[in-house]
Amino acid sequence: MSDDKTIFEQIVDGEIPSFTVYEDETTYAFLDANPLAPGHTLVIPKHPYERLNDMPADEAGDVFGVISELAPAVEAAVGADASTVAVNNGEEAGQEVPHVHWHIIPRFADDSVGP
Ligand code: 5GP
Repeated sequence: MSDDKTIFEQIVDGEIPSFTVYEDETTYAFLDANPLAPGHTLVIPKHPYERLNDMPADEAGDVFGVISELAPAVEAAVGADASTVAVNNGEEAGQEVPHVHWHIIPRFADDSVGP
């Protein structure tokens, strides 16, 4: 039953379309549907952990290893000068999808993207 799944788990399972940026055994990266900047990418563990602290350390390390390599690649792909890499960890922090995810938001000189 897909009703029990997070939106991102449905994306991982191919039930909702997404634009793949990167994929391996544990990690999936795809373009944000409402980008704050061109190339705004979301990186998730395929397993639907809700928050950072729900992830086993080795899996968090695997995902973060991908993020470290992906951030400069995303910057280069869109000609950005830098990127903001961020997690909204919990509802009160602005986490809308209860499946932990990192935002890679390309940044340009004098842009107006937060935080
Ligand atoms: P949050 O506010 O939870 O940190 O970020 C959730 C992000 O997921 C938002 O930037 C939102 O645009 C993105 N998002 C929500 N639903 C979908 C979807 O179905 N597909 C894609 N590609 N992104 C989504």
